[in-house]
Amino acid sequence: MQLDIVPLNSWLPSAGLPLIIAGPCSAETECQVMETATGLAAIGGITVFRAGIWKPRTRPSTFEGVGKKGLKWLQRVKAETGLLITVEVASPLHVKQAIDHGIDILWIGARTSVSPFSVQEIAEALEGHDLPVMVKNPLNPDLKTWMGAIERLNQAGIKKLVAIHRGFSFFNRSPYRNAPMWEIPIELRSLCPDLPVIADPSHICGNRDLLLPVAQKALDLEMQGLMIETHINPSKALTDKHQQLTPGQLKELLSKLVYRQEAVPGEFQNRLESLRSEIDKLDEELMDILARRMDVVEEIGYYKKANRITILQLKRWNQLTLDRIEAGIRMGLSKEFILKLLETVHEESIQRQIDVMNRTE
Ligand code: PEP
Ligand code: MN
Repeated sequence: MQLDIVPLNSWLPSAGLPLIIAGPCSAETECQVMETATGLAAIGGITVFRAGIWKPRTRPSTFEGVGKKGLKWLQRVKAETGLLITVEVASPLHVKQAIDHGIDILWIGARTSVSPFSVQEIAEALEGHDLPVMVKNPLNPDLKTWMGAIERLNQAGIKKLVAIHRGFSFFNRSPYRNAPMWEIPIELRSLCPDLPVIADPSHICGNRDLLLPVAQKALDLEMQGLMIETHINPSKALTDKHQQLTPGQLKELLSKLVYRQEAVPGEFQNRLESLRSEIDKLDEELMDILARRMDVVEEIGYYKKANRITILQLKRWNQLTLDRIEAGIRMGLSKEFILKLLETVHEESIQRQIDVMNRTE
């Protein structure tokens, strides 16, 4: 894809390497914003302060951001700490208000980048303004929609563009709030080599305990920066409280990251890395399916217990084995492998049902 991009370091000289963007998920009060910002300014290495003031929430009765008045608080952050400021915009009105308040960088969230209509409207509102825009990947793992959003902005004359990898909605059980699916940003980089890509480990993880390895992985894949949600008192945060760090915790996390001075050329586009990422995702799905299977097995166990039916139903098991072997062979698996797998699964299933029978509740 041919994009006309201005290199990141020419318009955003970062305080540290890589670029670190930090700040609360949501601006809540002027005091919370200022305390978080001064805390961040004190730890050093932070270039941009983020805060959401228009929050895209799943349910309408939840906190939807403080709105326009938060822009004044961000102006104060900039004046008092020197940090650049960024907010999420989702409509032409947000763009106008952000521009009127001197916001340095805009970002488009995952719920907006998924919609070509909204992105087009935002792009048109930005025409004639030389404002940098960061584009989060859409909720669903759809590289073309992500690229389409970036193209729409580029066609409207926005050349200071950054892609933010924030993970993808994942239907199954997963340790992550949004599955990283690293192969997608890797593919984006190989299709748009000039486009800076940064990661948002906070929204990938959904849980602060998982942040470090994900942030490290992003750096190892040569992403140019990190956006990490930071709150002066995460346990009291009105949004995303499980994933936010205090400024002190962010400092600790940054100190643990290994910054590779000289990237191995082409490592980001490494095919091996991309394939490994696919394997990670598939294994996660495999675990999810096995766990779900065992849940159903237990439910059957309770049913058998209530109806005094024996655990082992040999006829059913023999038929199931034959069916699975046939299906597996059709999918290119060997009979020996399927048998071994089924035996292991069966053993665990029987054990689960024995446990159910022995339970006294
Ligand atoms: C956010 O950055 O707080 C946010 C709403 O993120 P996303 O669009 O990635 O869900
Ligand atoms: Mn958030």
